[in-house]
Amino acid sequence: MIQAFVCTHCPLAFEIGWYSYWDFDGDTGRLVCVRCGTMHRLDFLKKSASDSDETGTTTYLALPEPVRKVSRVFKETILGDRFQDYEWPFGEDDWLTVSTWSGRRPFTELSCNRCGEHGTLISLGLPKTSEGLWPVFRQHDNTYLCPLCSNPIGMIYDETIN
Ligand SMILES: [Zn+2]
Ligand SMILES: [Zn+2]
Repeated sequence: MIQAFVCTHCPLAFEIGWYSYWDFDGDTGRLVCVRCGTMHRLDFLKKSASDSDETGTTTYLALPEPVRKVSRVFKETILGDRFQDYEWPFGEDDWLTVSTWSGRRPFTELSCNRCGEHGTLISLGLPKTSEGLWPVFRQHDNTYLCPLCSNPIGMIYDETIN
């Protein structure tokens, strides 16, 4: 599940979450640094589904800087139906490879590649709020506060991929 949020105050836009690949044996996660707002990514790939996690490889990636906006665009299906979509101002080539390692490591051990801070990366599920809610910037009334500036933010999508 990948969720995307936009703060119009800082401003800041980010994706956070996790999904399994349908065409590879692995998964990818989106993390965000709560100090500088930079998105990070953990890609995990195994050679085959029967391999254990220890034989897999993790690639740790980061965007060069925080994303400040995401564009709303209208697209058309081949049948002419218009639908709304979001277009991020970065592509696959913009992700910097920070490091790679064998197996898995808890992301809580990682430092932010941009600001260098340790322990500031959050995932969709970790850490939780004191009430057990996630992500950690969710309020008990199901609104969200920006993890950087604490102003109210909106969720623009919540996608369950496979
Ligand atoms: Zn903000
Ligand atoms: Zn940072």
